Amino acid sequence: MALAESVVQIVESQARAAGSDKVLAVRLEIGALSHVEPAALAFCFDAVTAGGLAAGARLDIDRSPGRGWCHDCLAEVEIEARGAPCPRCGGYKLQVSGGQELRVKEMEVA
Ligand SMILES: [Zn+2]
Repeated sequence: MALAESVVQIVESQARAAGSDKVLAVRLEIGALSHVEPAALAFCFDAVTAGGLAAGARLDIDRSPGRGWCHDCLAEVEIEARGAPCPRCGGYKLQVSGGQELRVKEMEVA
């Protein structure tokens, strides 16, 4: 819920900065390794936006893949989830290098 609130604060302040008082749509990027459950965030988003600039706004969520560096393959690989093994060698010597982001990618204002 706190996460949805901070997303909505960002969205509302950007809308105000653009001179708008109505947000029509928001597109978020959520990394596969970000610990954010998109369905839960979407649910909270509706509750948190009620009565504000973004009330009724459409929420689109893009998932970006997790990425990590495998110390056995010496290569960057895609990771499905935190704690998952390397898809190339099955090893666990992975260092997460991407897919942890949560950001507002685009928004549409009236
Ligand atoms: Zn590997």
